[in-house]
Amino acid sequence: MTIWTAVFLMVILSYIEADDYCYNEPYCDPYAWGDFFHSCHPLLEEHHSPIDLDLHMSRNTSLDALQLEGFEEVQGGHWTLENDGHSVVLLVGSGMSVSGGGLPGLYHTLQLHFHWGSPATNGSEHTLDSRRYPMEMHIVSMKSIHPNVSAALDDPTGLAVLGFFIDVVYADNVHFNYISQKLSTVAHKGQVSKIKPFALMSLLPKHNLSQYYRYHGSLTTPPCSQAVVWTVYEVPIYISWTQLAQFTSQIFSTEEDAEQVTPLQNNYRHIHPKFSRVVSASRDARVLLATAGRPVSPSVVLGLFHVCLLGLLTLVP
Ligand SMILES: [Zn+2]
Repeated sequence: MTIWTAVFLMVILSYIEADDYCYNEPYCDPYAWGDFFHSCHPLLEEHHSPIDLDLHMSRNTSLDALQLEGFEEVQGGHWTLENDGHSVVLLVGSGMSVSGGGLPGLYHTLQLHFHWGSPATNGSEHTLDSRRYPMEMHIVSMKSIHPNVSAALDDPTGLAVLGFFIDVVYADNVHFNYISQKLSTVAHKGQVSKIKPFALMSLLPKHNLSQYYRYHGSLTTPPCSQAVVWTVYEVPIYISWTQLAQFTSQIFSTEEDAEQVTPLQNNYRHIHPKFSRVVSASRDARVLLATAGRPVSPSVVLGLFHVCLLGLLTLVP
């Protein structure tokens, strides 16, 4: 090819790259991300996220609760809520950090965001023993030694992400209203809104924060950098059906003046193999108490499956 063809192709490719990725169109969905972001290719790299948190875990009794500095306080200034076309992101300024619980250092908290399904499908990124929850919230923090996120992405433990499953009950979660009441102001891609800071701890299952799973993985969005120490909590956050529907039906991946309006739905990446990775259960993690650390017999799995199935049946109205 001529140099001009090459330049033209590079311009096109960089345009596509800059024009990003998507979840629901075949040419740019998660299975195609590796075509434009090589580090997303599942066969070139082996430490991808999300994964299924199955019964094959090892108990690590040294994993106790993380220190969540500043999470109980109401920070000054204002926070920013943004629809970036892929999620709703809450930028939380400075003043909060996470450490301890086996993390290799102090991490400054930058933002939190959400992954969800549709009115008919669940949309958490991780699955717990193959169960996908309705939503998942990620609190993203960067190791304090790094000057910026791109430096952190070159460090295998550059980011610490706290993952919380979100499940649904009939009652509103009043603390979740801090965010859900503002969602309509960021319904369309590119919209940004100021939000009054609140104590982030009020969103979290604060009596169960020593129950979690730990593994090393990647960003679940391009460039899929393998730079994340994952902490996925066992006990979900509960919100109402109405609050869930505000995400699944009222957020759009398109701009306000777009000719065709597209709801932002199913913004989760598919499950990846663990390969040789170890997933650890914290000292207090409960779901796997009877089985963690030793091989699980098929009868136990079958028994648990029956319990889950019975649980599901009793929940269905
Ligand atoms: Zn995420």
